[in-house]
This record gives sequence, structure tokens and C-alpha cells, in this order.
Amino acid sequence: MRSPKDMRIIQIDITNACSLGCSNCTRFCGNHKKPFFMDEGAFRRAVDSLEGFGRTIGVMGGEPTLHPKFEAFVRYLAERHPPRYRLKPLRRPVRDFIAYLRDKNYFWDESINRREGPGLWTATGKKYYEHFELIQESFSYQLINDHRNGTLHQPMLVSRKDLGIPDGEWIALRDACWVQNMWSATITPKGAFFCEVAGALDMLFDGPGGWSVEPGWWRREPRDFGEQLNWCEFCGAALSTRGRLSSDGIDDVSPTLLEMLEKAGSPRLKQGRIALLEADRVGAPNMPDTINRYIASYRERVSSENRSLFPRHVEKYRLESAAIDLAALRRNAGGDWVLLYAGQEPRSAFLADIHAWVLNPGVLYALGDRAALFNVRASALRGAAGSVDFDAFLNLWPEDKRIELPGETEAEPANPDLAEWAAFAEEHGLNSEQVRKTLEKIASDHGVKLR
Ligand code: SF4
Ligand code: SF4
Repeated sequence: MRSPKDMRIIQIDITNACSLGCSNCTRFCGNHKKPFFMDEGAFRRAVDSLEGFGRTIGVMGGEPTLHPKFEAFVRYLAERHPPRYRLKPLRRPVRDFIAYLRDKNYFWDESINRREGPGLWTATGKKYYEHFELIQESFSYQLINDHRNGTLHQPMLVSRKDLGIPDGEWIALRDACWVQNMWSATITPKGAFFCEVAGALDMLFDGPGGWSVEPGWWRREPRDFGEQLNWCEFCGAALSTRGRLSSDGIDDVSPTLLEMLEKAGSPRLKQGRIALLEADRVGAPNMPDTINRYIASYRERVSSENRSLFPRHVEKYRLESAAIDLAALRRNAGGDWVLLYAGQEPRSAFLADIHAWVLNPGVLYALGDRAALFNVRASALRGAAGSVDFDAFLNLWPEDKRIELPGETEAEPANPDLAEWAAFAEEHGLNSEQVRKTLEKIASDHGVKLR
């Protein structure tokens, strides 16, 4: 066991609502009669209590982007706990967003910010798409897992007593628990916890709540964990059980936990999505022998079937006069991307292939001097009203959020920001051997040379 002060991440669980219903979820999504949504005051107190922690503060769910106050929470966290260095957000189109994100986590979070800054844990989806601009600007670390590939989840709702593990063996197993030793403490609406799963168990089974969310709670040592350790008796994380594919949507539970779920009125139980854990699930896959035990390769974090990050709808809007009526444009824009043009509709290889690219909805993509692609949700358009000419319209976007669309998209680099990151490191005097090696490794992973 570790003190939360020695962890790389402390989470704030802002909701346990989720659009997915994975097997053996560590937040037990789908087992609650009603999901919680942390209120704004509690979120602010949670962030403030972590003053001085100095590592990643994670926004976690459930699916945190589903929280109706997600934007306000993120802005508060980014203001109170900013990363030391801020990169420009993604602007140029990328095809392989998960590879880009891996590079960005590696360079921005691990390398130059030394893992200090806001973090997001998400399965992506509709709300991630809607908040894309804010997310890319605010989080120096993002951990995405859409759970559509072969992710294995270990049974969590398991009592060691049901598996016949005696007291003499138990304490050593518990203290070596991989979740507590590798992952996070957490804050839920019911208080602060030494372990994220303990916090989720307290929520599911209406426990006594956690420690008061006051400055420095996270400095407690394992000897101070006290009664919170009782939750480990109802948790299978420290036990050697076999994993189940997250996409099965079934929780494996031991008899004691089955009874507890019955008492809690678990909707999943009523839906037949709970299976009684057999002592050794013969034929079930072993947990992968990787550092995080869940997924074999980073690239599998987003399935190729997942289209939620790509442009959904592109409305073509031909300008009939020199003045652009912003209210009319919004009304007719279809709520997503708009291709605005004067004269002939622009043709390009990029537009023909547009649904294969991840674009930043905060950015204006210019095509020549009389056409532009933009998203109606762009922060640049908030509060904009009246009529403007085409040039004034382009100028609604700050300069670092306007780019020319590439002509030959096939020749685009896998990581379009790499040269910019190298220049950033140079400009800020961050040319340590470690930073240089990070950039060289990213370049070599993409088969290019760092200039
Ligand atoms: S996406 Fe995450 S939070 Fe949602 S059900 Fe799956 S494991 Fe749980
Ligand atoms: S056994 Fe469960 S509750 Fe206890 S530390 Fe491990 S994950 Fe947390």
C-alpha cells in the first residue's frame, strides 16, 4: 500500500453515469439505481484540497464528459492546477488520433510537465466529440479506452472469504494490491479514499463515506487508512482471478457480493448481467501480462470501428452575398461542421475524404481565400452576432486557431505537431537529454527523422 502523496494520480470521480456497461467495471456502472453527479461546490473543494499534490489530478467517471457541468469543472481544474507548460492544441488534421495522443501524453505530460497537470479518463463518445476543443487545450494527460477491443477486466465484486483465502495469506495479498500500488486514490461526493475502488464500493453499498475533503488529506500514510481497508474484503482486485472481455457486459461476483447486490437493488442483477464467479473460471482468458493488466497495446485503446471522433456531418453553405449573417448561418448549419464558400463549391482530395480525419472543432480550416471549414461549436463563435464580411468572419478565430488545409493529405505526417513540439522545447530551453530522447523516439516510431 502507498500513501496517496506518493501516487502519480489522484482521481476525482465526478459521476458514475456511463454510456457503456462493461464487464467488471471498477465503478460498478449499471449496478446503481441512480447515477450520481458531483455538484460544483464539491468539485471545487476536491480540486482545492489537492493543492500541493504536484502530480496528475484526474477527472474520472463513469464517463466524465456526460456530466452536465463538465465544461465548468474542466475550466476550474485547468485554472487551479495548470500544467507547467502549455502546448498549442491539435490543429492540423490527423488520421490516427490515438497514436497522436500517445505522443502528446509522452511529450507534454511525461516529458516536459513531469506528470503535473490535469488528466482525463474517458471512453470517448458523443460528449467527448462535443467537448473536443476544450479537452485538447486543458488536459496534459488523456487516458482513452473505448473498450471495444479485447480489453480484459478482472472481477471486482469478490470476497476473498468466498474463495477460501485464509487470514494468514490475505493481508500480504491485500497490501500488494496492484490497483492501490499502481493507480489512484480518489475523491467522490462522499469523501476522500485511499483507493479508487474503495470509493466506488462505498458509493455502491451506501457505506459510511470517506475522509473529509480538506487540504492535505492525501498525505495520510497506510497506517492511517483505518476502517477504509474493510472495503478490501469485498474487492477482488488483489486476488488471482481470470479476466472477462469488457464487451461481454457481465459482472463476475462471488456469493457474498451477490447477496449485497440483491440488497442494493442492482439493475444489472435484474437484467441478468451478473454471473456467479466460479473459483477458477476454466477457459476464461488470463489477464494480459502488461504493466496495466488490461490491454496489450496502446493502439487498442480506440477501435477502428469507433467513428465517434470523426466529423459526423458537414453542411455545405454557399454565400449568396458579401455579408455573412451569423444568426442565419447558425440556424442553417446543421449543428456540426460547415463548409462555407463563395462562388464554386471547392473540390479537394481532403474534402472527399473528410470523414477519415480527426479535426479540432475549435479550429478554422481555410481552403484558399474564399472557402473555409469550421464547426459551429467553436469557442471563437460564442457570442458572435450580426453580419460580417468573409475576412472579418475568418478573423473571429485567433491566429493560432486558423490554418490552411493541406492540399495533398496522403503525404501528411503521422504526427503533424512533432516539428512544432521540437521548436517549443528549443524556445523554452527544454532541451534536456530526456526531452530530446522523447522527441527522437516519437520520430522513430513514425519512421521519420527529427529535424
Ligand atoms: S467505460 Fe469505463 S466507466 Fe464505463 S462501464 Fe466501461 S469500464 Fe465502467
Ligand atoms: S483490494 Fe480493492 S479496495 Fe483494496 S486496495 Fe485493492 S482495489 Fe482498493
